[in-house]
Amino acid sequence: MARSKATFCPWLRCLGLLGCFMLGFLAGWFTKPAEKSASSSDVYRNVRQKLVAEMKAENIKQFLRSFTKLPHLAGTEQNLLLAKQIQGQWKEFGLDSAELVHYDVLLSYPNEKQPNYISVIDDQGNEIFNTSLFEPPPPGYENVTDVLPPYNAFSAQGVPEAELVYVNYGRTEDFFKLEREMGINCTGKIVIARYGKIFRGNKVKNAILSGAQGIILYSDPADYCAPGVDAYPDGWNLPGGGAQRGNVLNLNGAGDPLTPGYPAKEYTFRYKVIEGVGIPKIPVHPIGYHDAEVLLRAMGGPAPPDSSWKGSLNVSYNIGPGFADNLSTRKVRMHVHTNNKITRIYNVIGILRGAVEPDRYIILGGHRDSWVFGGIDPTTGAAVLQEVVRSFGKMKMEGWRPKRTIIFASWDAEEFGLLGSTEWAEENARVLQERAVAYINTDSSIEGNYTLRVDCTPLLYKLVYNLTKEILSPDEGYENKSLYESWLEKDPATENNSYPRINKLGSGSDFEAYFQRLGIASGRVRYTKNRKADKFSNYPVYHTVYETFELVEKFYDPTFKKQLTIAQLRGKLVYELADSEVIPFDCRDYGEALKGYSNRIYKLAKKHEEQLKTYGVSFDPLFSAVVNFSKAAAEFHGRLEQVDKKDPVAVRIMNDQLMFMERAFIDPLGLPGRKFYR
Ligand SMILES: [Zn+2]
Repeated sequence: MARSKATFCPWLRCLGLLGCFMLGFLAGWFTKPAEKSASSSDVYRNVRQKLVAEMKAENIKQFLRSFTKLPHLAGTEQNLLLAKQIQGQWKEFGLDSAELVHYDVLLSYPNEKQPNYISVIDDQGNEIFNTSLFEPPPPGYENVTDVLPPYNAFSAQGVPEAELVYVNYGRTEDFFKLEREMGINCTGKIVIARYGKIFRGNKVKNAILSGAQGIILYSDPADYCAPGVDAYPDGWNLPGGGAQRGNVLNLNGAGDPLTPGYPAKEYTFRYKVIEGVGIPKIPVHPIGYHDAEVLLRAMGGPAPPDSSWKGSLNVSYNIGPGFADNLSTRKVRMHVHTNNKITRIYNVIGILRGAVEPDRYIILGGHRDSWVFGGIDPTTGAAVLQEVVRSFGKMKMEGWRPKRTIIFASWDAEEFGLLGSTEWAEENARVLQERAVAYINTDSSIEGNYTLRVDCTPLLYKLVYNLTKEILSPDEGYENKSLYESWLEKDPATENNSYPRINKLGSGSDFEAYFQRLGIASGRVRYTKNRKADKFSNYPVYHTVYETFELVEKFYDPTFKKQLTIAQLRGKLVYELADSEVIPFDCRDYGEALKGYSNRIYKLAKKHEEQLKTYGVSFDPLFSAVVNFSKAAAEFHGRLEQVDKKDPVAVRIMNDQLMFMERAFIDPLGLPGRKFYR
């Protein structure tokens, strides 16, 4: 047998070998790509589940622990080091790139040599009482340096002396009450307003309009303590020595006060500080309720007009001006020496390039800078961002890419007026308005631990509802129920209680430039307090030294499950927006929302029937425009259902219309006197 085999002609044997080789080669040629596409489509099919399964509460806890050990104020060495740490981790996680992007913006710091405080002075000008120069540090942080004392960034400098007037929350209606009904003139006075209800910058603006020469801001226990809860560190209430930091600008979306409309780069023209946008012209200083009680207890003048002017300190809340009876020769003196300073800030920008439409962007951005340790604000958001980036990076390392490009951003100097995010929006405005599909914000992921809070464009309602049905509720008593179910039960919408509440997107965080100026569909989600039961503003220790890791771990989210839930929802939103064939927006919900908005404006206007007649105002054009919009939206979604999903051009045509939907509501000239709110 062996011999007969050996008798085969050598050329025939060669041909046989060649045939075998060719067969093998062909088999390899056809099977290998087939195998590869089978395995990568497996990866692709499973990413929706795997991405969320990858996220761990324990990782969020470790990121929060690591990022809150030291203060990370914008413009400081520590915050640059944290930026570099985050940049390095994003590269390790597998992003295509992670870069630091810097700007030179106007920031504001207390003067190290001349502290800010408030005095009561006698008729000789002697200071007989001074407010505290710092907050008593929380346990474990006594030796941390670089904790700046409470101050209001961008306050004017000055040492005004005057009688005090109590102006409640410092709202327009509060000043009207004083001036028009009670005949109290604030000109030349120092006013004291409690924090809460409105943005602190607006209190300062109102004080300036009233003619005051200084304003003191304080936290009243009525607004910053929950009944029956201990002060930190025994509970989560604000201690009497705590005071809320915060900027007092009126930027109206301008970003860096010295370069409105343009990125604050080396080449940019700058206004002088005196010409800067929204910088107040009077001194402002924040104090805690222990110090406020001393000032308020001595007040003379009329009693408060009604109970809505009373906080919960054991004082009369008399309005003033000035102190009562035998103390009436005493005055208040403010000492404010805060300096404005052009300072370098750093955003971290990470990119995960899209495989199919790299020129379409989904942005997930949140700030990194904090007033002190940033235990809640922003680090419960920055830690969630880190875990979301890690999870997307893992998917990419396993061979997956999203259809569209995902941009991750760790913004700087949010606390000084949304500066990092606004400057980056200004530098990239032209590209973003052509290419950005959506912006999801990732500031603080909790401000309470009761239920979900969502503020977003109506385009995202359906997506948010659908995704919350896929996520398990982290709430006690809702085991095995969905986040949607616990959210619906705890916070149903006012107009239609068969859906959970979703709020309009206003301002107050880094989505502002993207949504209000550029018209990019945007949203934010976080865990919140019980809006009916909890009457305090923000959360009690907001922007104080008591916002620590331990505050979150002991009182707000011991299992880190609420933060994990928010990571899952933010991650899923980004995933669906980046990877769905058709962008998951629904224009019909926008039509419904517009109907609601116009009805509300109409109801408000109806209260002024007389003026409506005088000026010949009609709502008919608005109502008919809303009807036309809703009709067009319904027709569009009819066409969208018919679109040939195998035709990439047809799909892209529809997706571009969806992307530009939000942009259609932008007025290029902006609102009157507020050109960056468009
Ligand atoms: Zn924040």
